[in-house]
Amino acid sequence: MQKNKKGDKVIIAHRGASGYLPEHTMEAKAMAYAMNPDYIEQDLVLSKDDVPVVIHDIYLDDVTNVNEVFFDRKREDGRYYVIDFTFEELQKLQITERFNPKTGKQFYPKRFPKGKGNFKLHSLQQEIELIQGLNYSTGNNIGIYPEIKNPEFHHTNGKDIAKITIDILSRYGYKTKNDRCIFQCFDAKELERVRKELKSELFLVQLIEFEEETKQLKNFATYADGIGPWYKQILDKRGKDKWEFTSLVEDAHTLGLKVHPYTFRADQLDEFSSFDEMMQVLFFEANVDGGFTDFPDKMVEFLVKK
Ligand code: CA
Repeated sequence: MQKNKKGDKVIIAHRGASGYLPEHTMEAKAMAYAMNPDYIEQDLVLSKDDVPVVIHDIYLDDVTNVNEVFFDRKREDGRYYVIDFTFEELQKLQITERFNPKTGKQFYPKRFPKGKGNFKLHSLQQEIELIQGLNYSTGNNIGIYPEIKNPEFHHTNGKDIAKITIDILSRYGYKTKNDRCIFQCFDAKELERVRKELKSELFLVQLIEFEEETKQLKNFATYADGIGPWYKQILDKRGKDKWEFTSLVEDAHTLGLKVHPYTFRADQLDEFSSFDEMMQVLFFEANVDGGFTDFPDKMVEFLVKK
């Protein structure tokens, strides 16, 4: 397979090619793979029997038909939790395009039609075998970019998602910064634990949700190799003819941290007039090192042209 010549910016397929197929399905991952990003992302939540399931939330009800299959298994808050079901039970569900469980409305109206197709949940191991298998058959070397979701919630339920995940990664050959695996988490305490207590030598990315966390870069640099901020935390304001930026990227670079912001969506542009403008501004004016995108094909195409 032809390698793209696209410089050193890192392209991460966010939940797979999720702009085109329901997020975190094997189909979305295979499609993403064929688009030739650098990494494909896995969000992880444990099942009742400790299988890391590739899914974005601790809930099932906004991407599956769980309310039809297991009507009586919701908790008091009315929601269905991945952690309450065995992996075998989870196989009975259909994944669909993301929707609002209260209204039933599809979140991104122009994406894959809700309720169509036959998509299933899968484990981290199954996805690694897909990607490593494709690396073998194509001769490419695309990496994985796993994120453990809500480790505190897992601890409260008596589960150590960090340790379980790190052990599996290690069994599949992902052990050090050279192994095409980037490990990410929003929970700073847990990511620090991954480095210091679990002694992982993987490339670690500290995700940033809240504005005040952008002031903790020095602390992050004591255990992490990069940060994953919301892209709006990088933008300051649109000046006369160009954007002005916060000091986040510069500060991170000074501390030796790479910057991989989320999320580049061609169908949710907000302050930008086009997807190309968004990529131009963030990659080449703000100088970020990589980006999470629902549209890996568009990011590859843009960066190859550069
Ligand atoms: Ca994620």
